[in-house]
Amino acid sequence: MDNAPSASAETLVFTQLRKLGLRPTSARVCVLQVLNEHAQESLPAERIFLALIAMGISVSLGTIYRVLSELEQRGLVHKEWHALDAAGKSHYVLAASRQAPASCLMVCPSCGRSHSVTDKSLADALQRHARTGGFDQGLASAVISIVCNQCASAAPSPAAQTPGTAPG
Ligand SMILES: [Zn+2]
Repeated sequence: MDNAPSASAETLVFTQLRKLGLRPTSARVCVLQVLNEHAQESLPAERIFLALIAMGISVSLGTIYRVLSELEQRGLVHKEWHALDAAGKSHYVLAASRQAPASCLMVCPSCGRSHSVTDKSLADALQRHARTGGFDQGLASAVISIVCNQCASAAPSPAAQTPGTAPG
């Protein structure tokens, strides 16, 4: 028990389990700790298994799969198919690190006026598209460049009204 993780990491794991109403068994705590340490990465169960062995913790691969499926059913963990995994194994990642920002920001490129839009379905859709497009790290922020009405009426130049239009 020498290589105990930091107290704050441990507290986080216990909080996560308590929220789900799960008893903090050592297998659950260990698996969650590895996932938290790799919060921005999706890991196959084997990597979690090896990480635990490296920490001197012996948990069977079967137990890891069982814990992961429990956590997945409760929405704490996402199961993903990884395009780069040659063996076609599922990868697991904390759901929180795969959630889109709750709101996106419309910003006028001319005056900098901003308007925050909170629309979960929009954010989720953007997140989905990001991942489909090969941005597996997920959306960090969503900023839409759009000329505000004030600027549009002050300078009615067509160029200013269509920022980001791709040339044909
Ligand atoms: Zn403006």
